[in-house]
Amino acid sequence: AAKRKLSGALLYDPSFDSASSQMLSLLTELRRAVEGNELRLFLQPKVSLVDGTVVAAEALVRWEHPQRGLVPPMQFIPFAEQTGFVRKLTLWMFEEAARLMGDARVQSHPLKISINLSTRDLLDPDLSVRLGSLLQRYGVPATQFCLEITESAIMDDPQRAETTLNRLSEQGFQLSIDDFGTGYSSLAYLKRLPVDELKIDKSFVMGMEKDEDDAKIVRSTIDLAHNLGLSVVAEGVENAVILERLADLSCDEAQGYHISRPLPAEAFLSWRAQRAEA
Ligand code: C2E
Ligand code: CA
Ligand code: CA
Ligand code: CA
Repeated sequence: AAKRKLSGALLYDPSFDSASSQMLSLLTELRRAVEGNELRLFLQPKVSLVDGTVVAAEALVRWEHPQRGLVPPMQFIPFAEQTGFVRKLTLWMFEEAARLMGDARVQSHPLKISINLSTRDLLDPDLSVRLGSLLQRYGVPATQFCLEITESAIMDDPQRAETTLNRLSEQGFQLSIDDFGTGYSSLAYLKRLPVDELKIDKSFVMGMEKDEDDAKIVRSTIDLAHNLGLSVVAEGVENAVILERLADLSCDEAQGYHISRPLPAEAFLSWRAQRAEA
């Protein structure tokens, strides 16, 4: 799967070996991106399907490359994972999000932020300590954050993932299983891990209007989550029909272009304020 992702990357060609100058230069560019302020934290709202309120937002990285323009994450995240650089990126996202929590507009109407963790993060025994000291520096409690983890990241090394996730959960972070239904998840792990939320993969949500099987998968996932006492979010909600069907199925929250595209943090805060007034 990692190979397939990499071959879709414009910035990186896996047919070169790891010592290639291409990889070195991308790594150099990524370092510069972090230090030189080229990364952007975008936010996409998650809304309640009960009353439509904005309950949280997912943080998604964007790279504003001086020559290439806006580079989408799928063009550098797989590479960042492979080199381990993604751990720096995760900390950068956390720091940006923690800074944002100090904004008066967030303070007056608290916001939960979801951050994506990578396989590398889960294998890092110091992750919870690193995140803990960063949040302490900004005076932000861990309970303000939800961590999104894919099934494949967990199944890469389930035992180490379990140790990390238990620690993070004890610290107060909420945990969400991202892209649910696409990985090789084991329901036994779902039962063991301190998970709070399932996020139904957008491929099923986008397909549910036209494909009866996708619709059945969405419905069963909602039931599974609720039977296990978990909250369930549908991502990739692109139209009103799907939004309504999800509400009928008692899905808890929705996220998708129909509600809003991911926005720069500033634009997100204006969007939220306007929506609250409407
Ligand atoms: P993801 O975590 O599954 O994030 C959801 C992706 O779906 C985002 O793509 C989002 O823009 C897109 N999306 C949201 N609503 C819709 C919709 O209605 N229709 C469609 N077609 N797409 C929708 P994005 O931002 O390009 O990110 C792609 C992936 O890159 C993410 O998938 C995640 O795996 C990774 N990623 C992004 N930011 C970060 C980050 O800060 N750290 C890590 N480790 N990974 C990240
Ligand atoms: Ca995610
Ligand atoms: Ca997802
Ligand atoms: Ca996905």
